[in-house]
Amino acid sequence: MTDDVIFGWVFVGFFVLRAIVATLFFYCVLPRGDRCPCCDTPTIRVQSKGWNTLMPWFRTSWCYGCDWTGFLRHGKITQERAAPRPRSARQS
Ligand SMILES: [Zn+2]
Repeated sequence: MTDDVIFGWVFVGFFVLRAIVATLFFYCVLPRGDRCPCCDTPTIRVQSKGWNTLMPWFRTSWCYGCDWTGFLRHGKITQERAAPRPRSARQS
């Protein structure tokens, strides 16, 4: 093996290794759940066939509070607060 080939393998190896480490790092940095990372409002899951097929372990989300779109990790979903019952329903 010549030095050029060895250098090529090492160079490609470091490139692939860097891509793997960066992917794992950003996966761990992404918040878990459905809260917006910008304004902490519960986000809405949006359908994106391409992203959801390529990376099903992410949740494609949209925040209606600040118009943020991006990926979140699957996790605890914020429960809707129960709407107050109307007065007529409380009296009976
Ligand atoms: Zn937001």
